[in-house]
Amino acid sequence: MDFDFTPDEEAFRTEVRAFLSQNLPPRNERSGSFMRDWLDKVRAKGWVGFSWPKSVGGSDGDVARQAILKEEMALAGAPPLGTSFMGLAWVGPGIIQYGTDEQKARFIPDILDSKVTWCTGYSEPNHGSDLAAIQTKAERIGDHYKVNGQKIWTTGAPYADWMILLTRTDFNTEVKHDGITCLLVPMKTEGVEVRPIENMAGDRHFAEVFFTDVEVPIENRLGDEGKGWAVTISALANERSSIGEVTQMFGKLEDLKQLVRGTRKQGAPASEDPLVRRRIA
Ligand SMILES: Cc1cc2nc3c(=O)[nH]c(=O)nc-3n(C[C@H](O)[C@H](O)[C@H](O)COP(=O)(O)OP(=O)(O)OC[C@H]3O[C@@H](n4cnc5c(N)ncnc54)[C@H](O)[C@@H]3O)c2cc1C
Repeated sequence: MDFDFTPDEEAFRTEVRAFLSQNLPPRNERSGSFMRDWLDKVRAKGWVGFSWPKSVGGSDGDVARQAILKEEMALAGAPPLGTSFMGLAWVGPGIIQYGTDEQKARFIPDILDSKVTWCTGYSEPNHGSDLAAIQTKAERIGDHYKVNGQKIWTTGAPYADWMILLTRTDFNTEVKHDGITCLLVPMKTEGVEVRPIENMAGDRHFAEVFFTDVEVPIENRLGDEGKGWAVTISALANERSSIGEVTQMFGKLEDLKQLVRGTRKQGAPASEDPLVRRRIA
């Protein structure tokens, strides 16, 4: 089996490198407008949602080119390709797989254009690893669901525009994985209360999110009622593969090397200390 990249794939790598050398100044030289320009440029290149179908605004990029793109971006210390990490990593793919045509038209362009940020409302105070046991209740009333319950550890909830929310619409199923329904909820909806959780570093990225008689229109349901577990499995698979990206570590490793080079330990650069060197290796 030939594991080498093809000439076409290597040409793509060259294209990515050329783009980066022209459009990615060193971190300390990036202006205030850099990020917006960057997002517009990578979007124009078709690199946001690179593997998504062209029919929804992606580029139908194959796995090899996707790997090359991510590898080169990581090696160059490039910022993300969009502001909505969750939107790009698993909400968008979930909508592409399970959404209606209307939902694709409504949500995907804003994710690709970095106009919205998403958060993920799965974990509850008593249901984390045992996710299928969630109790947040969604009751169907006419043309909407009425949601009551609580989520926790919701990353990005304090500043997200939308949440992909896991609810239970049926409490009488034989199997707990049935009766779960996935809803797409604007965070500004009346009855949604976000209480940030401060971590040890003083950051407030996580939150508890409370739902009190929150009305969510039926057209915001992703997938069939009671079949939300399938949507979740797909989203979690995408989450695992995106969080597990080895390429992200290249940049962090470089940062670490810079740090030890610039740090002195017992009168000498820390980078010359055998113990430090071994830990990094
Ligand atoms: C950085 C970070 C970001 C997160 N962001 C989000 C988010 O955006 N949205 C969201 O919904 N959630 C989020 N979470 C929550 C995360 O998904 C949950 O923490 C996770 O599902 C585990 O749930 P828990 O914390 O309740 O732990 P528990 O389920 O209570 O588990 C506690 C411990 O018990 C172990 N354990 C559990 N069940 C068993 C078993 N049957 N047998 C043996 N051992 C077991 C676990 O391995 C763990 O060590 C985030 C968590 C982290 C760390």
